Amino acid sequence: MKITSIETFFVQPRWVFLKMQTDEGVTGWGEPVAEGWSRTTAMAVREMCDYLIGQDPRRIQHHWQALRTGGFYRGGPILTSALSGLEQAMWDITGKWLGQPVYQLLGGAVRERIRVYGHVHGATCEEYARTGQVHRQAGFTAVKTCPFGPARFVESPQFVEEVANRVGALRQSVGPAVDIGLDFHGRISPALAPRLIDAVAPYHPMFIEEPCLPENVEALADIARRTNIPIATGERLFGKWAFRELLEKRAAAILQPDLSHAGGIFEVRQIAAMGEAYYASLAPHCPLGPIALASCLQVDACTPNFLCQEQVNLGEGYLKEPLVIKEGHIDLPEKPGLGIEVDEEALAGKIYDGSWLTPRFWYADGSVAEW
Ligand SMILES: [Mg+2]
Repeated sequence: MKITSIETFFVQPRWVFLKMQTDEGVTGWGEPVAEGWSRTTAMAVREMCDYLIGQDPRRIQHHWQALRTGGFYRGGPILTSALSGLEQAMWDITGKWLGQPVYQLLGGAVRERIRVYGHVHGATCEEYARTGQVHRQAGFTAVKTCPFGPARFVESPQFVEEVANRVGALRQSVGPAVDIGLDFHGRISPALAPRLIDAVAPYHPMFIEEPCLPENVEALADIARRTNIPIATGERLFGKWAFRELLEKRAAAILQPDLSHAGGIFEVRQIAAMGEAYYASLAPHCPLGPIALASCLQVDACTPNFLCQEQVNLGEGYLKEPLVIKEGHIDLPEKPGLGIEVDEEALAGKIYDGSWLTPRFWYADGSVAEW
């Protein structure tokens, strides 16, 4: 089997879809995107096509190595996201060719359904209480939120109190049986993080995500040491090498690689295995489209130390059969490959020019804040 063509599509709201075709008529899909850098990522895909066209798509790991290791320059969000989408498409093709879901080729299912969490947003305690209630009634067993906007290096008592109040309102509305993940989004300085963590600790969060920027692993490890709330991170880490340091320094207990950023399906499965040896769990990051989510589900299905899956889009208007959440879970995919069928007719109406720009945050003095 040979790869004959690879196309990318800019898809609203901010995604890139990839379609890989073969001379045997088997087609695979992937989602190679670094949000806010769609056009650059698509160009990286195009450059990788110079190597991939004409190759056998079933030699997935070999091509992954050739594109990453063989290219001298490696890693980072653009190259690794491009590689991730291509890798997903090769798994989709290989699974379809064998007539099996991808997880059957990675050790088989270790669970019967996949737990997902919902996103809770709000500006006020009342909004938190209301959206928490909506998720609880829908059957979610876990939710996540980022309970603040931009934060200065050191914040006022009022800021800290308001954050605690919002989290408290959410806890009250969902009750003690629902897990609450808190995403600090790398917006908090290592100096402020301990105070903010102490303020929300009475509400027993499931985890604190990116309590500070993940690029300083020592700072993250310091924060992890002084709290009993699990620390989560990984959406801005690329490849297993970045997760090695995180695990060795005990900087995180929950790993959140993104299947469209960290190197794809097999790379994230390997990151999960590294985490397993450190008693860390896996909660794949996925604020992306349905192809990225379908890729996550394949890994979740066959990973013993999986915790919970992020999701924001089930593929309504993108897939012929959108994914379904029942009682806070998605059923194991049963169809071959990634287990989804992209609705190309519906997709045609959602193509755009790829120009989605990450919104900027500004401090009151006009300087740039962390997003
Ligand atoms: Mg996050």
